[in-house]
Amino acid sequence: MTVRSISILGATGSIGTSTLDLLEREPDRFQVAALTAQRDVDGLAQAARRTRAKLAVIGDASLYGPLKQALAGTETLVAAGEAAIVDAAALGADWTMAAIVGIAGLKPAMTALNNGGTVALANKESLVSAGTLMTGAAKANGATLLPVDSEHNAVFQCFDHAAPGSIRKVTLTASGGPFRDWSIDAMRAATPAQAVKHPTWSMGAKISVDSATLMNKGLELIEAYHLFPLPPEAFDAIIHPQSVVHALVDYIDGSVLAQLGTPDMRTPIAHCLAWPARMATPCRTLDLAAIGRLDFMAPDPERFPALGLARAVLAAGGARPAILNGANEVAVAAFLAGRIGFLDIALIVQKVLDRYDPAAPASLDDVFAIDAEARRAAQAAMEIITA
Ligand code: NAD
Ligand code: MG
Repeated sequence: MTVRSISILGATGSIGTSTLDLLEREPDRFQVAALTAQRDVDGLAQAARRTRAKLAVIGDASLYGPLKQALAGTETLVAAGEAAIVDAAALGADWTMAAIVGIAGLKPAMTALNNGGTVALANKESLVSAGTLMTGAAKANGATLLPVDSEHNAVFQCFDHAAPGSIRKVTLTASGGPFRDWSIDAMRAATPAQAVKHPTWSMGAKISVDSATLMNKGLELIEAYHLFPLPPEAFDAIIHPQSVVHALVDYIDGSVLAQLGTPDMRTPIAHCLAWPARMATPCRTLDLAAIGRLDFMAPDPERFPALGLARAVLAAGGARPAILNGANEVAVAAFLAGRIGFLDIALIVQKVLDRYDPAAPASLDDVFAIDAEARRAAQAAMEIITA
């Protein structure tokens, strides 16, 4: 058996720790090259010790000393700072998990793609903001880009890649989040603690808020567009509270293929880790009789305007997805910090999209410039709202 070298960018997060959980069950198959984190020194050091990682990188440069100390007596090399995370992505691991949250993950993910190998992508914000550049980099460098996001992994498993012309529609499911049945007045008063309490999935704070606004599903429609060769209008979303059916692929003959499973990210991660083979996971077996029923309903555009914004952005293309993402990251951070209300998130994104419409990005630098301007515009919009 060949041992594969693995790097995890964002190793201390929800996706990172699920990936570690799978690797650590089969230590003979995998060798850990680099692990990165932003601030969680203890989590990073413990994971590096357990897996005997070759390199551990902490993004916050002021934490170099504590990390060095936490890994004293081990053979793990220690580095710190934003550039060191990019260097870690350039080590040329056979398989890299891109699980940093937000646009911060873009440069590392691109670097991993530029180095060839296989990149399992969880960091959807990078693909939303720079999709064409990323898929172009994968192609140019012979890298394999595998979707970790559960819905996209589901599509990947159901999609006839040899005959995309035989597919007319791809539908992503959404749980509907914690506010699925809330009134608009209740949503207006929703707290960060209520928003991050997801009914079916356990995830990081940012994506949990995105799930509550349905912006997550909007970002995922754009993500899907970059991963599967269909026109923008072929991608749709439906509410499915049980999160058992992850996505559906409609063929021209009327056949619909879907992937099902218990909501546990270790299933799509394992699919990427073993691909094109399969590996066992400790995930619970799906028991449909115990679940009893599967519900589906159309999303409510009034209470969840973010989905409509993302659809329009997908249709328009160009710089708009990067603007949507940058403005949303600022608004979500402000909501989590208690500075704005829940319904203000989509409002701020809308205001930024209304005011800022530059040309499509041709390079990574263009994407970062668009992102920076969208963030400035979002801060300005926020100041008006909170004044
Ligand atoms: P998380 O917040 O739990 O973890 C984020 C990781 O990124 C941590 O290791 C953190 O240290 C690191 N990080 C944070 N800011 C950073 C920065 N500025 N620079 C470098 N590293 C930084 O997030 P998560 O829930 O694991 O999600 C990670 C990504 O995967 C997101 O893009 C999310 O949308 C996507 N995703 C997550 C899930 C899920 O179930 N959690 C499902 C699908 C997709
Ligand atoms: Mg998803």
